[in-house]
Amino acid sequence: MATVIDGKAVAQTIRSEITDEVRLLSEKYGKVPGLAVVIVGNRQDSESYVRTKRKACADLGIKNFDIDLPEQISEAEVIKHVHQLNADPNVHGILVQLPLPKHINEEKVLTEISLEKDVDGFHPLNIGKLAMKGRDPLFVPCTPKACLELLSRSGVSIKGKRAVVVGRSNIVGLPVSLLLLKADATVTIAHSHTSQPEDIIREADIVIAAAGQAKMIKGSWIKPGAAVIDVGTNSVDDPTRKAGYRLVGDVDFEEASKVAGWITPVPGGVGPMTVTMLLKNTLESAKRSIEQN
Ligand code: NDP
Repeated sequence: MATVIDGKAVAQTIRSEITDEVRLLSEKYGKVPGLAVVIVGNRQDSESYVRTKRKACADLGIKNFDIDLPEQISEAEVIKHVHQLNADPNVHGILVQLPLPKHINEEKVLTEISLEKDVDGFHPLNIGKLAMKGRDPLFVPCTPKACLELLSRSGVSIKGKRAVVVGRSNIVGLPVSLLLLKADATVTIAHSHTSQPEDIIREADIVIAAAGQAKMIKGSWIKPGAAVIDVGTNSVDDPTRKAGYRLVGDVDFEEASKVAGWITPVPGGVGPMTVTMLLKNTLESAKRSIEQN
């Protein structure tokens, strides 16, 4: 049976490490890390993600800068807010909650975030550096960073291993592939046009599942002893639950946990780690800013 990687417990450990460092910065330099979370409009899911991020900041002693903008605001106005946050020395990280309303160009807004405050790691220059040999981005996107952190804290070595990433999105699949490559894995990326992904996945020592397809990866696809990180978060109908649904991953956990060496559950695996990595990026940014001044 696989070792189940408890993302909640790992996240809790990292959060207490961050809390200690935040306290130290405050005592030594009289400064606390600051994170600005910008939300435009009233999408319920976005509001809930933003609440979680803001609460996590408050819990760890990171200062929140709440920028709540109306749905009808113009693109130029949003960019003006971003510029103000870029100029504010107390703000070390800026996160613009996506998606933005249709009349606002996301790429344009994200590109305006100062490279030094891009704690989501989505600025094209940060992604570009992640892709280049011998270059280091200032920030690595949070979910990919969470996957690598879970592997390393579970004692899974990456160097020289065969890794398969299922999915190639800008926020998860692509950057996690680049991170694994930087860590000296041999990386294959599967996507919706990959024929017979099972044949590729069966060769993997490390599987990162980020396709958004409920239980698509079967136990028989997993190489015995492999490390399986399941990013997928899919809601499926479940009349036995009060809510009428439950969350499952991209991996059939029941089957795969009998074959894998390590596996993350859904929920309770990558999910709790993602916001924690955002807080870690904000702390790192604050430390860099204090060092430079
Ligand atoms: P996207 O929909 O943006 O990307 C999905 C990717 O999976 C695409 O590259 C797509 O290929 C590929 N794909 C789709 N179907 C298949 C298939 N049958 N076989 C192989 N590849 C396939 O999703 P995200 O990357 O944003 O998210 C992926 C999953 O991770 C979702 O379930 C999401 O909810 C979850 N997630 C969880 C987070 C967490 O913190 N736990 C954070 C972010 C996401 P193609 O490019 O060809 O279309």
